[in-house]
Amino acid sequence: MKKCSQCEKPAVIYRKYEGRHLCSAHFMRSFEKKVKATISKYEMVDKNDVICVALSGGKDSCATLYILKKIFGKRPDIKIFALTIDEGIKGYRDESIEMAKKLCKRLGVEHHIVSFKDEFKMTLDEKIKESMGGSHTRPDTAHLPMKVERNTRERESSMLANMFLKKREPSPVGRRSEWKSGPCTYCGVARRYMLNKCARKFGATKVATGHNLDDEVQAIFMDYINGNLSRASRMGKTQNPWNGLENGISDNVVSAVKEKLFIPRIKPFREIPEKEVALYAILKDMDAQFAECPHVTGIRFLTRDFINDLEANHSGSKYSIVETFNKILPCIQMTIEKKIESGEGKLARCKICGEPSSQEICKTCELWRNGG
Ligand SMILES: [Zn+2]
Ligand SMILES: [Zn+2]
Repeated sequence: MKKCSQCEKPAVIYRKYEGRHLCSAHFMRSFEKKVKATISKYEMVDKNDVICVALSGGKDSCATLYILKKIFGKRPDIKIFALTIDEGIKGYRDESIEMAKKLCKRLGVEHHIVSFKDEFKMTLDEKIKESMGGSHTRPDTAHLPMKVERNTRERESSMLANMFLKKREPSPVGRRSEWKSGPCTYCGVARRYMLNKCARKFGATKVATGHNLDDEVQAIFMDYINGNLSRASRMGKTQNPWNGLENGISDNVVSAVKEKLFIPRIKPFREIPEKEVALYAILKDMDAQFAECPHVTGIRFLTRDFINDLEANHSGSKYSIVETFNKILPCIQMTIEKKIESGEGKLARCKICGEPSSQEICKTCELWRNGG
């Protein structure tokens, strides 16, 4: 067994991009330091912030809540609470909600749970069934990676964390091409919508999500593949959808800014590889969900495998892709601003629900309230 590069203890991880082996204690110390550096680099947290952590119960969001509480828990001016959105995915989300509850209890964090069913009168499972014309049966979740059992943690932590670099097959349902919109579209649109609306309702000034370096790189690639510049333009510093739009571009935008309809997003793990977030969650003995949503579709798997192959052969690629993206982001934002000036994608309020939208009827109402 390899030894830690900084002490005599056995290593739990080899960071190829640094050429260092690290033991459990040195890894955790370095991990926490990196997260703190990321938070200050992107100026994610301000004085008097009320941070809403989007807590699904998955490893990334659990680790996000844990570390934010660790860093800011003693600051009297900063408040942290957790928000869980129950999409209604049987055998998957019901399990992770229990884990989310447990973690909040352990950390003494206020916890709110809201559901698709309450907001849209329908669970995600029901919505997918409806959009498939009733022919769809739910995928078997037996093929999903396992939950990490407590007693295996330290000893096998490194092997477990490496699991996130393995090629993963999409579930049979994820491969299907007959969706009107992919299940991830229905889910993602509604989840972002509820996250913003509910975080605002509960008084948040920031929304923290568990997106890690791998998620970020995948999102950058997906935006390229789909030609989605306006989405890419919102991946900036603090994830404020109207960042840089305050300068009188449109009255609607200005009023949305003034009324604080959008809560800026922060991603403290933006520069931390998924494998390391998983390892941290395991070593901190978090009872988090490690399985993947059964509805994930094919393109995401292809993108992820491609990026992992790239990183394996050319270490540091993931980080470099995000850094390069940071540099070209101002240009992307300028392009989008010009579009908005010319009248495309102006921000207004949705006619049905009153939430901010660039269309008369927002995407969520179109997909979920049959507003189209
Ligand atoms: Zn060490
Ligand atoms: Zn709407």
